[in-house]
Amino acid sequence: MRICNLASGSSGNCTYVETERARVLIDDGKPLAYVLNALNELGVAPDSINAILITHEHSDHIKGIEKFARAFNIPIYAHTYISEILFHQLPNCRHLFNFFDSDFDLEDLHIQPFPVPHDSKYCVGYRLSEEDAVASIVTDIGTFTDVVFEAIKSSALVFLEANYDPEMLMSYPNYPPFLKKRISGGRGHLSNINCAKAIERLVHAGTRLVVLSHVSEHSNTENLAISTIANYLESKNIIPNVNVRLDIAHHEQRGTIFRITPTSKK
Ligand SMILES: [Zn+2]
Ligand SMILES: [Zn+2]
Repeated sequence: MRICNLASGSSGNCTYVETERARVLIDDGKPLAYVLNALNELGVAPDSINAILITHEHSDHIKGIEKFARAFNIPIYAHTYISEILFHQLPNCRHLFNFFDSDFDLEDLHIQPFPVPHDSKYCVGYRLSEEDAVASIVTDIGTFTDVVFEAIKSSALVFLEANYDPEMLMSYPNYPPFLKKRISGGRGHLSNINCAKAIERLVHAGTRLVVLSHVSEHSNTENLAISTIANYLESKNIIPNVNVRLDIAHHEQRGTIFRITPTSKK
């Protein structure tokens, strides 16, 4: 499996995942030209994409979908619980929708959606597997629940939200109080320290690579997220770059290309 974040954060999210026979995008909240350029850098023809999977209906995850999906006739997959809302928000894509309410396969890629507490109509994370090579994506998560942990534990690679630093969030002058409350609430976004605590559990369950994702443009920085999380993990005797590798999904720049190989193909 080859997997690479193309963009992350409230200005737009998109992640590319490829197996031997399947190519998918998870969310698309970026302009068409941006995504085409990022795919071109990866050597991927846009019309070779098999599907776009939606996590939830917030605009930073879907606002690029209409143009991309219609330009290349790409099927769109989303949970049945958000079908009505998507018919409304992406009215010109009705003929491309496929709705799921449980696990499904696209070629050799097995997709297991699971519910995530977030203040959209309904939000899922995805566990993605090619045989025993497993990666999971969980962004926009107010609380790292046991349901989420059970769904993604033993993933080799996890894209996990590290959204905000509480002090930066509370002192940011341009957010009204209700928005600060929403972000830091149990159905909002995950703070650096709560992300660190989640990583601690994941490392004990076998995860060796975590990509800090959906980092806020206003109430966090990449360096602060990394240092806060690394310090917490060290205090728990989990040594970054020894016991777990931490990487970052950037706002407007393609991230690291990761490869996870099934045992049968090693
Ligand atoms: Zn988001
Ligand atoms: Zn959201």
